[in-house]
Amino acid sequence: MKWKKDELLPSSSQNATFITTALRFKNGSLGSDRMKRAEIRVSGIVQGVGFRPFIFRLSKRHDLMGFVRNMGDAGVQVVVEGDKENIEKFINSLRPEQPPLSRIDDIVVSWKPYTGEFKDFCVMPSDKAGLGLPSVVPPDLALCDNCLREMLDPGDRRYKYPFITCVNCGPRFTIIEELPYDRPRTSMKTFPLCPDCLREYQDPPDWRFHAEPTCCPACGPHMTLHGGEGQQVRTSDPVLETVRLLDEGKIVAVKGIGGIHVASKTTDDEVIARMRKRFNRLQQPFAIMARDLETVRTFAEVSRAEAELLTSYRRPIVVLQRSLDYMLSELIAPGLDSVGVMLPYSGIHHLILRHGKDPAYVMTSANVPGLPMLTDNAEAMAKLRGKVDYFLLHDRKIVNRCDDSVVKLVDGKPAFLRRSRGYVPEPLKLSFKSELEVLALGADLNVTAAVLSGDRCFVSQYIGDTTKFETLEYLQAAAEWLLRWLNIEAVDVVAHDLHPNYATTGLATRIAGKMGANTLAVQHHHAHLCSLMAEHGLEEIVGIAADGVGYGPDGTAWGGEVMVARLDSFEHMGGLKRQRMPGGDLAAIYPARMVAGILLEQLERDELERVLNEYCAKGFRHGEREISVVLRQLDRNLNVFWTSSCGRVLDAISCLLGICGERTYEGEPAIKLEAAAAIGDSREVKIEPEIKKMDGKMSFDTSKLLLDVLHALRADVPRKHIAASAQLAVARGLASIAIDVASSSGIKVVGASGGVFYNRAITAAVRKEIGGAMLKFVQHEILPPGDGCISVGQAVVAAIKRKFR
Ligand SMILES: [Zn+2]
Ligand SMILES: [Zn+2]
Repeated sequence: MKWKKDELLPSSSQNATFITTALRFKNGSLGSDRMKRAEIRVSGIVQGVGFRPFIFRLSKRHDLMGFVRNMGDAGVQVVVEGDKENIEKFINSLRPEQPPLSRIDDIVVSWKPYTGEFKDFCVMPSDKAGLGLPSVVPPDLALCDNCLREMLDPGDRRYKYPFITCVNCGPRFTIIEELPYDRPRTSMKTFPLCPDCLREYQDPPDWRFHAEPTCCPACGPHMTLHGGEGQQVRTSDPVLETVRLLDEGKIVAVKGIGGIHVASKTTDDEVIARMRKRFNRLQQPFAIMARDLETVRTFAEVSRAEAELLTSYRRPIVVLQRSLDYMLSELIAPGLDSVGVMLPYSGIHHLILRHGKDPAYVMTSANVPGLPMLTDNAEAMAKLRGKVDYFLLHDRKIVNRCDDSVVKLVDGKPAFLRRSRGYVPEPLKLSFKSELEVLALGADLNVTAAVLSGDRCFVSQYIGDTTKFETLEYLQAAAEWLLRWLNIEAVDVVAHDLHPNYATTGLATRIAGKMGANTLAVQHHHAHLCSLMAEHGLEEIVGIAADGVGYGPDGTAWGGEVMVARLDSFEHMGGLKRQRMPGGDLAAIYPARMVAGILLEQLERDELERVLNEYCAKGFRHGEREISVVLRQLDRNLNVFWTSSCGRVLDAISCLLGICGERTYEGEPAIKLEAAAAIGDSREVKIEPEIKKMDGKMSFDTSKLLLDVLHALRADVPRKHIAASAQLAVARGLASIAIDVASSSGIKVVGASGGVFYNRAITAAVRKEIGGAMLKFVQHEILPPGDGCISVGQAVVAAIKRKFR
C-alpha cells in the first residue's frame, strides 16, 4: 500500500527551501568529461520511510555506482559515480519519485571528479556524523495494507503476528533511542533478526529491505496475557483470548505503540459503568476504536475530511458527531453529541477489532488524566491492579511515550486537542530564521515543550498536567530528548510563562541555570497568538485569545482578551469584563460560584439567593447553606479572585441553564453547553452582547449577558435555544471588539486562539462576523488552539525579541 501524502493538513514541505544544483551544471561548466561523481546530501524526513531502498533502486535504474547511508542528524548521504547525464536524471527523479512517507526539504549536490572506486551500489552502514542540514525522524505510522494482508493470510509466516511491519509502516518515534535510525539504536535491538528476516532485510527487491523494525514470530517481540494480579495466563493465542474476555465484559489493559490503553466493550452499559467507577472517571468521554470506516458510519457522521483524517497513516482520534442511529452505550460520552473515534493502527488493534463481536471497543489511555501515559509492564501491573481484570502486554520497550492524537474539525479546519502520535516530531516551519536556539516549556496544563532552531520549531508530544510531579519529569525528559536529537547541548534562551509559581517556570529557571542560558517570561495569551502567527507566517494580528485561564500582567486571571499582537510585544485592547471568582479555583470546578459572582451587582441580594437556589442548587456541594456562605464571602470580598476568562462565563451559562453544575474533566460545562446549543436555534431568543468603553478599553459586559440568559429562562424559552443564543452573543461580542480594534489599528487580519475555539458554533460565528467586516480570519490548523500551542508561542517570542536586540 502506498500511503497518501497529506492532503488535508498543510505540509511544511510547501514552503521548504529547494536547493538543487543539478540544473546549474547543465550549462556544461564542468568540462566535457562524461563520467562524474556527485556527493548528494538529502534532508527532510528521509530516515525510516524506505528512503535507502528507494535510492538503491533508483541508482540501479540509472546505472550508477556508489552508496547511500543514514547520517547522525536524520539526513541521508548519497554518493554516486557514472555518466553525468544519468546522474542528473537520478537527481531530478528524487523529488517526483520519493517514497510516499518521505519529505525532501533540501537536496545539496557537490560535483567531483570521477574516481572509479565503486564496483556496485550498496547501502552502507550508517554514520554518526551529521550533514549539517536539518532533518527529522518520522512519526509512528499505521500498519499498511500490505502488512495487514499478510498478517491475515493463514499461509504467511507472519500470520496473526501483530508486530509485522515494513518500510512503509510501523512505529518510529516511539522506538527510536538515538540517531542515525538503525535497528541497534531502537528498542528492537534486543530482537536479533532470524535468518528468514535477515534475508528479506538484505534483499533489495524485498519491501522489508532495510526495514529496521522488521521481525517475525521466530525473532521478534511477543504478546503475553496476565490476570488481574499479574500472573501469566496460559494460552496459545493471547490476543484472541483477550478478544474473548473483552466480549465477555472484562476490562483489559492493552499495551500498544505509544503507551497502555484500557479496553472494554462499547455496547454494554454495565461494563462501561463498571470501568467508570473503577477509574473514577465519571463523565469524561472515552475514546473508542472501530473496526473500519464503514463501521464508524453506522454510529457517527463522517465528512470527507474526517474520513481522510481517520484513515491517514497518522490515525488520530477524530471527534465525530454522533448519528441519529447511534447504538453504542450512552456512557461512552455522557451528555455529549459527539464521540471520539480512531481506526486500528497497530497489528494488535487490527487483530482485536477483526475478531471481536463489538463494532468498536473503548480504547482510552489507562493513566490518570493529566499524568503520563503508562508504558512499562511492571508499572502498569502495579498501578492498574484492581482496576482492570487482565493485562495484554508485550516485551518491546516503548522508548518515547506518545498519547494518541485527538483532533476535531472546527469550521472545516482541524483543531487538535492533542497533537501527539502520528504527528510528533514533525516541526513547524517558520517564516524567519532565528540566530538563537530556544527551549520553551509551556504553561501549566496540556503542556508541550518546544525547541526552536534555525527556521524550525519542534514541538514535543502531549505531556499533560505539570502540577503533578511525574508529568513535570516527563516534560523535562521530552525536552531533553528533543535537544539531544537535534544535537543541541545548550540553548541561548529558555522561555516560560509569566506566572511566577508555575512548575514549568521553576523548571525553566533550573534548566537555564544549568545551561548558562537566559530566561524569558511570556504572557500566556500573547504566546497563544504568537503560535498562531507562526503557523500562518504573520507578524501582526488583532488577536482574540479566549480560554480558561492565563496569568495576566496585572496578576489577575485573563482568558477573554482582545489584543494587537506582534511577535515581540502586545497591546491589550479590551475583552470580557472582569468578574468575581469566589473561592478561586473552586469556582472553576463549581461554576455556580461564577453565577453568584457574575450576577452579584445585577440583582438584589434576596433575589440572587432565590436564583441560585432555584437554578443552581446542584452546583453547590452543601446546598442552601453553602449559597449563603458564598454570598457572605462575596459581600466581604474574602478569598475572591478576579477573572476575565471566557471559559468561566461559558461555564456559568451552562450551570445557570442546568446543563452542568460540576466540572469533572477539563472544559466539561462548556463542552456540554456546546452539545445542548447544537440542537437549539439562536433566532428563538434574542441575546445581544453589550460592549462599553471603560478606561480606553472595550469591555464586554458578561453580567448583562448572564442576566439576559436568566430572563429568557424565566420566560420559559427552551434551554437549547437560550444556549445557542448565548453562545452566539459571546462570539459576536468578542468579534465586535476585534473588528473595532482592527479598524482603529489598520490591521487587516484577525486571529483566534485558546480553548474556546474548540467550540464549533463560536468559531464559525466569529469567522462570519470578521469576514463580514472584510477582514481576514485565521485559526489554528497545525497546533492545538488550547495550551498545547503555548510552548511554540513562547519560543517564537524569545527568538524574535533577542533577534532585534
Ligand atoms: Zn507495512
Ligand atoms: Zn524473524
